Parts: sequence; structure tokens; C-alpha cells
Amino acid sequence: MAADSRISIYCPNCHWEPDGGKHWQCSCGCVWDTFETAAVCPQCRRRWRMTVCPPTPGGCDVPSPHIDWYHGLDALIEELVEEALPAPAAVGSAPYES
Ligand SMILES: [Zn+2]
Ligand SMILES: [Zn+2]
Repeated sequence: MAADSRISIYCPNCHWEPDGGKHWQCSCGCVWDTFETAAVCPQCRRRWRMTVCPPTPGGCDVPSPHIDWYHGLDALIEELVEEALPAPAAVGSAPYES
């Protein structure tokens, strides 16, 4: 395997790529971009292990482990991130706002 430090982020199920929008909602009501904070709610600091692929911007609505969204991480970093995400919970997608 060639050394490649490039990391891409996309849904492991449908390959939807986060567009920088605030598509996730925490149980505390906070709506934010979970990939800006590595799955930590900026309001209540809760860590979300699972991340739902948001259907509103074109995702598949399937929850996947947050770590699985990152592609190109080397094994060491992957392990560190796994350890940092202990909460077995899924973050839901934000309600559609028109
Ligand atoms: Zn929260
Ligand atoms: Zn998806």
C-alpha cells in the first residue's frame, strides 16, 4: 500500500460527501456540522460514535460509525480516533428547514 496522507470524508454506504452544512442535530437540540468537530456536539460536548448520513442534502439516511466516514487514515490514527469516540450512540440528521 502506497503512503498517502490524503484523507477524504464520505459516507461508507452511499459515498455522499459532507458539504460543510449543518446537517446533524444532537439530543440537546444543537444543530451543527459533525465533521467540523469530529462528532462532538459544540453545545453539550457529547461525542457521537455513529453518524447518520443526512438525506436532505442527498445522503442515504443510514447511520455508520463516525470513524468509517474517514478514508485514508492510517491504522494508528484510526485507533486513536476509535478510543476518542466511546459513546455508543447515533446522531440523527437535522430536520429539513426550508
Ligand atoms: Zn448536544
Ligand atoms: Zn450515505
